[in-house]
Amino acid sequence: MPVPIYDAHHAPGGTLKRLPLLKAAVAFISTVFLCLCGLLYLQLEQSWRHDLAQAEVNSTNLTRAIAQQAEDTFMEADLVLMSLSDWIQALGGVSQQQSRLQKIFARRVQALAQLSGVFLYDKQGQWVVSSFNDSPHGKDVADRDYFRFHQQNASLQAHISPAIRSRANGEWIIPISRRINDEDGNFQGVLMAGIKLAYFDQFFKSFNIDEQGSMFLALSDGTLIARRPFEERQIGASLSRGEIFSKYLPEATAGNAMITSVVDGVTRLYGYRQLQAYPLVVAAANSRDSILKGWYASAYQSTAIVALVLLGVGLFGWVFVHQVRNSERIEADLREAQEALEVIATHDSLTGLANRRLFERSLEIEFSRGARQSTPLSLIMADIDYFKRYNDTYGHVAGDHCLTEVAQALKGCCQRKADLAVRYGGEEFAVLLPDTDIHGALAMAEQIRQSVMARNITHSGSPVGCVTVSLGCYSFVPAGRDSIEVFIERADAALYQAKANGRNRVATLSGETAEDLLQRSDR
Ligand code: GH3
Ligand code: MG
Ligand code: MG
Repeated sequence: MPVPIYDAHHAPGGTLKRLPLLKAAVAFISTVFLCLCGLLYLQLEQSWRHDLAQAEVNSTNLTRAIAQQAEDTFMEADLVLMSLSDWIQALGGVSQQQSRLQKIFARRVQALAQLSGVFLYDKQGQWVVSSFNDSPHGKDVADRDYFRFHQQNASLQAHISPAIRSRANGEWIIPISRRINDEDGNFQGVLMAGIKLAYFDQFFKSFNIDEQGSMFLALSDGTLIARRPFEERQIGASLSRGEIFSKYLPEATAGNAMITSVVDGVTRLYGYRQLQAYPLVVAAANSRDSILKGWYASAYQSTAIVALVLLGVGLFGWVFVHQVRNSERIEADLREAQEALEVIATHDSLTGLANRRLFERSLEIEFSRGARQSTPLSLIMADIDYFKRYNDTYGHVAGDHCLTEVAQALKGCCQRKADLAVRYGGEEFAVLLPDTDIHGALAMAEQIRQSVMARNITHSGSPVGCVTVSLGCYSFVPAGRDSIEVFIERADAALYQAKANGRNRVATLSGETAEDLLQRSDR
């Protein structure tokens, strides 16, 4: 198929401009995707941290409040003990004052809601006085931890022990006790106030924590005193190996820690605080899930909205890219059709060689190129010998076939890309040879002549017996004033000369023929 005149620089708008558009669209959509995802991540991360920070503040406040209230509870009981022990020590003995003391004890217990009872034991642990009417009774307390503690420690400080079941009324109590000395500082007994565990249960319930949250009150050594939710079997258990006692409390007396329970696998934010006046620790925890409940809700919401927007952008992008690809395909088809039309418009349908329109266009281009670069331009005109006879003998169809064969021979001789083989009209052909001098043109013409003969197309009407061609060559270096018509006429004159000299030959324009030509054009 001949190559059409097609200049890529003047190609119809599409591909060259569209390709970056497609890339830009993909880049834009990707950027929107990344930006939205990045913004969502930043926003969620920020609100996550904000919610946790807020929860830590709340947790700190909660534990401070619990610690304060716990401290007040023990302090009130302790003040009762202090005043009573001062009084007892001042009396020097209680044997005469038992009923009076019992009334005073009972009044104190009535006055303080947290108190279950107040008890005074002698140095053997036997009951002396209690806030109960029917005391003293039951077993002694020589085996109780708090009693042995005071027996063995000279300290006059209050002592708090793990919760026990009261032998007076069976109630769970937290004993807070003080040692009673005689005037010489010898151990005389123990004064104990029992704080109701149930009081702490109520007290814990007055604070807000979530269903999976917890609160506890423990001794500084980790012994659990009270807990929400209440579980009797855990009272007195040791928490000393838990992270709060083993890791956090040694570093700070108050703080917050996110701890995952090994028991139920729930992660909780613990606020913990060591009481100032007593060796007690309080802690309160809310589960991380409840802390982040609001965050989860807004995270789902924002993620859903962003996902919707991304879906929209993605769909739009898909449609857009699809549309661009479609129009590219349509343009490619159009271009193909245009190229096919261009070929039809510039080529001869029978032989496939360039037609006169393309020949003239090429001539103009080569004329100005030759003039610009001062390079020679050659033209060969060729005509089939005795073709009328061929047609007459073998018919027009065979004539057409013969024309095609000759055209093939011509084309086969055009080695260079710039060489242009043309069907000039009827059985006349032309070969335009840019940047070729007369010697090159003559050589080429001779080659064509031989090539046609070599095809050996039988022609009984020719003296040679086969189809031959006559060829005329003309070559010159174009200048601005030269006309295309004269150029063709001169090559044609050379062809005329080849015919006149007997056909099946190559001729170049001789001076004589040129004269004739000039005279003819003058006339
Ligand atoms: P000469 O050697 O002097 O060139 O003799 P000729 O017979 O070739 O010259 P002439 O110009 O008289 O004849 C040309 C013939 O070519 C006339 C026409 O029938 C034939 N011809 C022109 N175009 C076509 C074509 O497209 N197909 C066919 N089959 N014949 C054509
Ligand atoms: Mg002719
Ligand atoms: Mg002819």
